[in-house]
Amino acid sequence: MPRPATSCRAPFRPIVTLGDAAAEPLDADRLARALGDANVPTLVAVLTHLTGEERWFHPPYTPTRTKGLSDHTSGGLTEQARAAVRAAALAAVLRWADDPDGIRALDEGALGRIMELCMGEPVAPKYVGMMAEEMGMRPRFDNERLARLRPDEEYSAVIVGAGASGICMAVQLKQANIPFTIVEKNPTVGGTWYENRYPDCGVDTPSYWYSFSFNPVSWSHYYSKRDDVQAYLDATVDRFGLREHILFDTCVDAASYDAATDTWHVRATGPDDTQVELDARFLVTAVGQLNQPKIPSIPGQETFAHDQFHSARWPADLSLRGKRVAVVGTGASAMQLVPAIADEVAELTVFQRSPQWIAPNPEYTREVSDDTRYLMAHVPFYAAWYRMRQAWVFGDKVYDNLVIDPDWSCTDTAVNSINDGYRRYFTSYIRSELEGRPDLLEKALPDYPPFGKRMLLDSGWFRALRLPHVSLETTPIESIGTDAIRTKDGVDHEVDVIVYATGFDSLRLLGSFDVRGRDGVALRDQWGDDDARAYLGMTEHGFPNMFFLYGPNTNLGHGGSLLFITECHVRYIMGLIEQLIQRGGTSLECRQDLRDRHNDEIDQAHAGLIWSHPGMQTWYRNDRGRVVTNSPWRLIDLWQMTRAPRLDDYEVV
Ligand code: NAP
Repeated sequence: MPRPATSCRAPFRPIVTLGDAAAEPLDADRLARALGDANVPTLVAVLTHLTGEERWFHPPYTPTRTKGLSDHTSGGLTEQARAAVRAAALAAVLRWADDPDGIRALDEGALGRIMELCMGEPVAPKYVGMMAEEMGMRPRFDNERLARLRPDEEYSAVIVGAGASGICMAVQLKQANIPFTIVEKNPTVGGTWYENRYPDCGVDTPSYWYSFSFNPVSWSHYYSKRDDVQAYLDATVDRFGLREHILFDTCVDAASYDAATDTWHVRATGPDDTQVELDARFLVTAVGQLNQPKIPSIPGQETFAHDQFHSARWPADLSLRGKRVAVVGTGASAMQLVPAIADEVAELTVFQRSPQWIAPNPEYTREVSDDTRYLMAHVPFYAAWYRMRQAWVFGDKVYDNLVIDPDWSCTDTAVNSINDGYRRYFTSYIRSELEGRPDLLEKALPDYPPFGKRMLLDSGWFRALRLPHVSLETTPIESIGTDAIRTKDGVDHEVDVIVYATGFDSLRLLGSFDVRGRDGVALRDQWGDDDARAYLGMTEHGFPNMFFLYGPNTNLGHGGSLLFITECHVRYIMGLIEQLIQRGGTSLECRQDLRDRHNDEIDQAHAGLIWSHPGMQTWYRNDRGRVVTNSPWRLIDLWQMTRAPRLDDYEVV
């Protein structure tokens, strides 16, 4: 299929490690050494990108397909072929260094061909534009165009939340010269990354993708820990001059829309109970889906005489050394903190309600070597191609395994044959990890389809479970006493600390403050406690000039980086604002018919996807079975749906 001939060219911008002021100058010997550590599929892509030489597109230089989540460092090339690629790449980079402006512009056809080469498998043409943006080859945002419209003070915005989404929104508003204020309840930025400090807290999306396309950085680990992500968000705020726009320690209490002036009025409580009032044309909520800790109510809980807390409220300076610790829950938070504390505690009892599907991830603890960081900083587009590989491996590739096949017969354990393949693969992994421990295997092997609940990546979970002082308890909890958790079999488990890794109130979206739209209608009344709906996850009828980031049906259940979704949504919002200003309008409100139709489409799509499977509980859906948090779309669909907003989808005043 012919690809559109848009040219993609970006000047090479070195990406540096957090805290580095600049990359050291290029040195041929140093580069030659660093190339020894290169990810070969990435290097083949760089080589063809720089040289355009045909021979690298053919065996023996063509990388094989990446399987699983591995980095596929050798690309499946022979040692001889790898050496030839490295030597040619060295020469190409040195040639480039003599003429940095001589980089060829690639049209989408050429770019797509290199993508296929780099991934060792077909890449549908529709992905090329999306990936070009991810790689920084083509800008995702055009804020200068909006800035040229010279929006005046009349078009201002309040953003609620200075986590990753709020920061992304603020960067774009700032570049478009639209005045804004961010209201943040915490003393600093970071949102979920600020709040979650449990041991080993970190990403399970690869870091080189879990970063803004407009602010790439070289990481110290392939999967960063919370401190590094927090430092990155802090650095982004400083780089784009956002801090002066943020009201810290200020909690929004209420927001109401005034139709007479087409503005939002926001009331908040600041430090020392000061009352803060803000008026703005636009209200952007960037409060996340997973920040209201949910602690189950258990009889006798209040009588427990020692520390008990939620995983997202980890006490500073807490020492667990020598203590008997209970962890309730086996989700993504427990997955990280249990292995991290297991060696320190005297005894650890993990209370499991449901077993989880856990995938191997060989890269989880891997550090990024100095050589690789050198390549990221000095080899043109190395970081961009590496990021593209991450976006491909962790993106839509797994989507087909979520789609319910009506002709599939073993419906209890899988929804289609691909899903069944994953089931067999993960089962054999879990079996191998728990070999010799049939007691654990019986408890740990899920009986529902993989991907039905959020997939977890092994961060040392099975190693921890195998330790002699760690036990996995599957008998339900009955009550808590002063020193013990009692299970329904009457056994008292004496513990000194209880950690509730029991998740968040995900369904009550925007539950932390009162929102009143046109005619004083409360958003809570419109959505109820657990049935949030929006147009494209971002706008709601009755709530003009209001935009949600990470809103209803936007969570990714199959893979992908949430920052990608955020960028798509922010671009959409910026596009709408631009069109409104161009039209001289003061308010836009999504049409009821489109919003309803869109939600019908979401529900229909979900009916054919794994999260509607009755075999498991998941925080994705409410107790009537409606999936409220998750997007049913592929990343590419979402990118296409949001890249060109239509003001006609809105009632404009
Ligand atoms: P979660 O995935 O909702 O897991 C909560 C766990 O607590 C589940 O095992 C659940 O059991 C259990 N539980 C809940 N109520 C219980 C009760 N009354 N009695 C016994 N067990 C109970 O929460 P989470 O682990 O905090 O993760 C939430 C989300 O945050 C994740 O899905 C992910 O999106 C995000 N997160 C991401 C990362 C990362 O990127 N690395 C890390 C942490 C969190 P059931 O399974 O039976 O419901």
